[in-house]
Amino acid sequence: MSASRIFVVTGSNKGIGLATVKALCEAVGSESIVYLTARSVERGTKAVEDLAKSGLKPRFHPLDVDDASSIETFATFLKKEHGGLDVLVNNAAIAYKGNATEPFGVQAEHTIRVNYFGLQAVCKALFPLLRPHSRVVNVSSCVGHLTKVPGEELRKKLSDPTLTEDELDGIMHDFVKAAAENKHGELGWQNSAYGASKVGVSALTRIQQRMLDQDPRDDIVVNHCHPGYVDTDMTSHRGVLTVEQGAVCPTYLALLPPNVSSPRGEYLWYDKQVVDW
Ligand code: NDP
Repeated sequence: MSASRIFVVTGSNKGIGLATVKALCEAVGSESIVYLTARSVERGTKAVEDLAKSGLKPRFHPLDVDDASSIETFATFLKKEHGGLDVLVNNAAIAYKGNATEPFGVQAEHTIRVNYFGLQAVCKALFPLLRPHSRVVNVSSCVGHLTKVPGEELRKKLSDPTLTEDELDGIMHDFVKAAAENKHGELGWQNSAYGASKVGVSALTRIQQRMLDQDPRDDIVVNHCHPGYVDTDMTSHRGVLTVEQGAVCPTYLALLPPNVSSPRGEYLWYDKQVVDW
């Protein structure tokens, strides 16, 4: 593995993403480059400036995971500037608050679009640029655990080791369609768009690892994790862990050593323990 590695963290202007950037900057040598990315140039630049006050030097690049042209621009930039990347932490996500007034169908479409299809679009653009020994971290959630899916048939489909990415996309589209008519329960889903999006992210991770295991590039590992219940804007600051504690598992997975036998395609808890998905 080359000494100079390229790290990317999505949605890292605040919260667990920002703490992950900070932890990575502290852990890696100055020859490596950590990209703090954000959909807002203003918020992202401000975060980089704040970290610079503590002597940390991440670089900023805009990246809106919900915008195909933003993703393409970033992929082109990484290829031209560095020829590829070594670590991708898919952290960016949204969650509607409990008191949101948007109809459930609207929340479902938006949440699945950003949290599942947005993450997947970033992967599709950046996976071809991953170098051997790359590490990918998909930040899921405890609500992304398979047991949160009430329907037995749906659980079977999601955990089928032959499930393809296209089939999973279909399952997520079906959830959105059914949610528009409040019929998602009939398909076996829980009543949470955010939960469904994270179940999708976790199911996708397992498919991605299977595909990467067949890839001619050596030793590319992708894991998914629950970062813990963390004190951030997303939890309206009700979370019990600090952002630094929330960043522990994503950072650990981002820095897994070369040729690690486990975890590979696994689901981890915030304390770095592998949990059966
Ligand atoms: P925050 O809401 O604090 O931060 C979310 C980050 O994602 C922000 O930087 C936000 O940017 C960014 N983001 C949202 N939409 C986009 C987009 N379209 N493109 C790029 N960035 C975007 O959340 P947390 O730090 O709490 O969550 C981080 C991750 O951890 C998420 O994946 C979340 O689901 C997961 N998680 C969090 C838990 C917790 O207890 N906090 C528990 C379980 C999982 P902006 O500032 O512009 O909105």
